Amino acid sequence: MLQRNSRKVETCLASAARSYERAHATDDLAMRDFYLNMERSWMRLAASIAFSERVELYLQHWRHGQDAGRCLRCNGGMELKLIETRVDRESITFACLACGLDHVHQGRAGLFVGPRVTNPG
Ligand SMILES: [Zn+2]
Repeated sequence: MLQRNSRKVETCLASAARSYERAHATDDLAMRDFYLNMERSWMRLAASIAFSERVELYLQHWRHGQDAGRCLRCNGGMELKLIETRVDRESITFACLACGLDHVHQGRAGLFVGPRVTNPG
């Protein structure tokens, strides 16, 4: 799945690249540490923005899907319960408001699949 980064993410990545270049262009060790820390901060921010944008996109898609927002067991409405992210994996858990059943949508970064039903209530 090809995915273009948003402008916000691109701005963060460009800032990280500038910090990296400045870190390697200076002989001052304190300044090098400063720029390397800046690079890491920009990269963390880029990852955070990219993740929240993917979640937002997924939730928009989910709300407009054919079976969106309905429990597979009782057809009750569902609410967002938990969002988890790891280095290589992300998951979004919805809980049924009627019966409490969890629906877990998992995928590699940026690519959700599912639902997988767990934790029968
Ligand atoms: Zn249910």
